[in-house]
Amino acid sequence: MDCIFCKIANKEIPKELVLENEELIAFDDIHPKTPVHILVVTKAHVASVKELENPELAGDMVMAAKKIAGEKNLDGYKLLFNVGREGGQEIDHLHLHLMGGK
Ligand SMILES: [Zn+2]
Repeated sequence: MDCIFCKIANKEIPKELVLENEELIAFDDIHPKTPVHILVVTKAHVASVKELENPELAGDMVMAAKKIAGEKNLDGYKLLFNVGREGGQEIDHLHLHLMGGK
């Protein structure tokens, strides 16, 4: 499958990771829109929230983003799921945007 996030998750494409656990990785967005802009990405290929069936995975993504925000000393931040092209999703592999910083 020609999916860039799967390749990063499988270490086929080297990428500095902010976080890694059994089900998730996180790394800096290559086109940051805020001083801190990190993507929390599932290791398993799920195309988008529309295809997501595991509520625990969604919760774990939010908790991972919260942990990273704490490590980055972000007081406030945005957590954003873009869903589908019309929703602004550019990569068809589930990811959560963590955006913040001054
Ligand atoms: Zn993928």
